[in-house]
Amino acid sequence: MTSDRKVFILLGAPGVGKGTQAQRIASLYHLYHIDTGQALRNEIASGSELGQTAKSYVDKGELVPFDLVMQVIKAAMLRVSDEKRGFLFDGFPRNEAQAEGLTEILNEIHLHIDAVLYLETPFSVLMDRLAYRVTCSKCDIKFNLKLNPPKNEHVCDACGGELVTRKDDRPEVIENRLKAYETETSPLIEYYSHKGLLKSIDANQPIDTVTQKIQQELDLYFKPSGKMLV
Ligand code: AMP
Repeated sequence: MTSDRKVFILLGAPGVGKGTQAQRIASLYHLYHIDTGQALRNEIASGSELGQTAKSYVDKGELVPFDLVMQVIKAAMLRVSDEKRGFLFDGFPRNEAQAEGLTEILNEIHLHIDAVLYLETPFSVLMDRLAYRVTCSKCDIKFNLKLNPPKNEHVCDACGGELVTRKDDRPEVIENRLKAYETETSPLIEYYSHKGLLKSIDANQPIDTVTQKIQQELDLYFKPSGKMLV
């Protein structure tokens, strides 16, 4: 593994738009996008032992235990291809133990976190963003039936795949996910701020504006290449 690879983390509450931004940014900068939520859903769909254990937590909107998540992360990191210029973590780390775990893994491969992009938005808008969210079952792009509607509410504008409501985007589960964020994940804001790594970005703006703000930060590390996917 080349040690000049960059490492970025997208930090923020569920529904803030991490996934959407991560897909764009990974494409623009040739970063390897690691989305632990998606990786866990893949494990669940595959019926693996790990997936079966993870399912009970994901369905309830609770954090999956440390060992399982680290297993998923390590396996994902090994799959990085040579042309990638770095890693973009989305939905990971989600608590201090995971943050320490990530630092350890990165130390082993002589990498370090370059920046943590904290997508900030008032808590009050998150419920709406999640409750009206539909996800493409094929390419994982997200739309919001209220705020960013697709042309047809069942069909993905980008790839024609079927748009579905994620099982954990139901109101009772959303509440648990937001609670888990508040108690376990939000302390990471302070944690990374202390380390001088936190870059706050106002995410309560149009999607394109948020992408531009992130680009302004990342352009300090390298110039974009490649095309935007979405
Ligand atoms: P997300 O797609 O990021 O909203 O994640 C969906 C669900 O997957 C979460 O509600 C958790 O149950 C689980 N999950 C995703 N990432 C992590 C993580 N880093 N640690 C623990 N659980 C996670």
